[in-house]
Amino acid sequence: MAEWTNWSGSVRARPAQHEAPKTEAALAAIVAQASQARVVGAGHSFMPLCDTDGALISLAALEGELRLNEARTRAWAPAGWSLAKLTQALWDQGASLINQGDVNPQSLAGAISTGTHGTGRDLGSLSTAARAFKLMLADGSIVTCSPDERGDLYEAQRLSLGLMGIALAIEIDVLPAYHLEERLESYPLDAVEERWPQWVAENRHVEFFVFPYGEQAIVKKLNPAPSEGPLTRLNDMDETNFRRLCDLCAALPFLTARMQKAIVPAGVRRRRVGPAYQIFPSERTVRFEEMEYELPRDQGWPALKEVIAWIRKRSLPVTFPFEFRTVAQDDIWMSPFHAGAGASISMHQYAKMKWRDLFREAEQIFRAHGGRPHWAKRHTLGEADVHALYPKAAQFCAVRAAHDPGGKFANAHLAALFGVRREAKAA
Ligand SMILES: Cc1cc2nc3c(=O)[nH]c(=O)nc-3n(C[C@H](O)[C@H](O)[C@H](O)COP(=O)(O)OP(=O)(O)OC[C@H]3O[C@@H](n4cnc5c(N)ncnc54)[C@H](O)[C@@H]3O)c2cc1C
Repeated sequence: MAEWTNWSGSVRARPAQHEAPKTEAALAAIVAQASQARVVGAGHSFMPLCDTDGALISLAALEGELRLNEARTRAWAPAGWSLAKLTQALWDQGASLINQGDVNPQSLAGAISTGTHGTGRDLGSLSTAARAFKLMLADGSIVTCSPDERGDLYEAQRLSLGLMGIALAIEIDVLPAYHLEERLESYPLDAVEERWPQWVAENRHVEFFVFPYGEQAIVKKLNPAPSEGPLTRLNDMDETNFRRLCDLCAALPFLTARMQKAIVPAGVRRRRVGPAYQIFPSERTVRFEEMEYELPRDQGWPALKEVIAWIRKRSLPVTFPFEFRTVAQDDIWMSPFHAGAGASISMHQYAKMKWRDLFREAEQIFRAHGGRPHWAKRHTLGEADVHALYPKAAQFCAVRAAHDPGGKFANAHLAALFGVRREAKAA
């Protein structure tokens, strides 16, 4: 039984089987025989979403093709393709995703299953782009669901954590291909706060990163722009010095505050233009652990300032910056943005340093400001919290129970969160 670990190294599992079927028939045979099964995309989730002692199934090699409509506004895409593969294929056919997050190794289904998002005043998570699903159920049968067909299954599947079935293909909204101009600018945090509403209103995408002890925040603005030829610099930032700093802080945590002050210099002004699918993602090579809370939009700044003040007061060694984004309201049952437009705050810690107690305490601050966690990132919610935070949780659980009564697609973490009684334990 080979070991499996997630991207950050914090989740380790020993599945009884590792499977990478090439055909739907082979996948159906695996699913029908397995007592417990989880699908894994790129394993980029920080929570134990893919953890299983049953069958761990990757769809990366599964047959499938991209089918775009003529207007280049909708596409059926293989669910197991990485966003990198998908966005390149879309570009080759003259289309782009509406929005993307920071990186692109995630599978399309993994990103949609967890509500993965980028930033944008009026732009929702990737889950909001899903129009229909081709899904394999626990008995190996295949169904499609959309607002017009098996409507309840579709609503639950839009952000499902893989609990309803295995997504084989997903129909998504796309846009005709576009280029983006990226502007990186540094400012003191209070200047960012002062201008934030204006920047959110004026830019298609805006976000910032701020180190808890940093004097300057780095602001990233993205807007559609005419092409300026091939992209010469593929990454937004160079991580070489940052990696050295993290290693130093891991060895000597008391240096964190001092080392961070000037890590972002004043007066940064950088610009590049390129195809949207190349500008959105960057490579993140320094491994970290992450918690992210989605807050009512007006609670974003108070929560951020409170958590930074708490870190500074206690001189806590938090080596990574916070990331602050905005995400539009949606109507997805289990989406943290269901209640209204969100401010999204990510708290990271270097993977080689302690994070559990830091996150647990910071989580209290985010919860007190009305926050709900990103499902793929560290949180300590229990079943009662899920039902308290999500008015549609009972409906979600009912649809899950109707489609997978034996709990084949639930693991221990998800069974505890959603009250799943699992019939069979894996051998
Ligand atoms: C470096 C890094 C950067 C990140 N940046 C962002 C960001 O900018 N914005 C953001 O919101 N999140 C971000 N994340 C979180 C990440 O997008 C989510 O964890 C996402 O789920 C990862 O996709 P994956 O393919 O790795 O999924 P996995 O972690 O492999 O799986 C996630 C869930 O999807 C389910 N799943 C996967 N495939 C299928 C399928 N075919 N059918 C049914 N269920 C399936 C799995 O069972 C599991 O429940 C980041 C994570 C990392 C490590």
